[in-house]
Amino acid sequence: MDEKHLSKRLTTVASYVPAGARMADIGSDHAYLPAALALTKKISYAVAGEVVTGPYKNAVSEIKGHGLTDWVKPRLADGLDAVTPADRIDTVVIAGMGGTLIAEILERGKQHLAGVQRLVLQPNVGEDRLRRWLMVNRYQIMAEQIVGEDDHIYEVIVAEPSVVPFCYSDYELMFGPHLLEEKGPVFVAKWQDYAKRQRAVINQIEQAQNVPVERITAMKKRLALVAEALGDDKY
Ligand code: SAM
Repeated sequence: MDEKHLSKRLTTVASYVPAGARMADIGSDHAYLPAALALTKKISYAVAGEVVTGPYKNAVSEIKGHGLTDWVKPRLADGLDAVTPADRIDTVVIAGMGGTLIAEILERGKQHLAGVQRLVLQPNVGEDRLRRWLMVNRYQIMAEQIVGEDDHIYEVIVAEPSVVPFCYSDYELMFGPHLLEEKGPVFVAKWQDYAKRQRAVINQIEQAQNVPVERITAMKKRLALVAEALGDDKY
């Protein structure tokens, strides 16, 4: 992958960045995403925020190498501290991290989200915790995508601030309100695989001397939700 050939996952993320956006890509690593969007003139400005020196240096050389220093600003910073009011950021992308970490970055950086009109988030795991953060903080989930690439399945969640609160059920938080509407083949594959793994774990821990009853009950409850989502009682 490079700035001219984004992965399927990052291409999906990129498709939700509005044309002309002033975006912040937090956890930008090589800055492939903002570089690709700047090279194709889809965005007007970007901040590429990165907290670790090595990936930050990669981002700096990527941006310099493509003559993008006027459009894409690399910043060595923790989370949304990478952005200032002068950047006038309207779109924040946070991709390729756990949902809990993404929610923590959003929580800690709330003061930087005032003018932001869209969040494009791609959690690797913990999607339900991220959706819960969005709900509690008055964001509406506008769109979701689920993509399979190299034996991994990724969810992309697009959210926008809302004046009215949106209430999602535990079921919607777990599976995604839009993904549930579609229930496409990647969605079915993800949750079939999840159910298979969970059943194997339950079988194993039921053999333990001190069976962790509460844990098993919680796992079985989630499996029941999977059965409901897949419309199949064998889960
Ligand atoms: N966003 C890119 C993508 O989706 O391909 C890179 C994903 S990479 C797995 C995650 C990056 O986020 C790493 O470079 C890591 O150093 C960075 N990161 C983790 N926590 C961060 C934070 N609090 N602030 C900024 N960057 C962070």
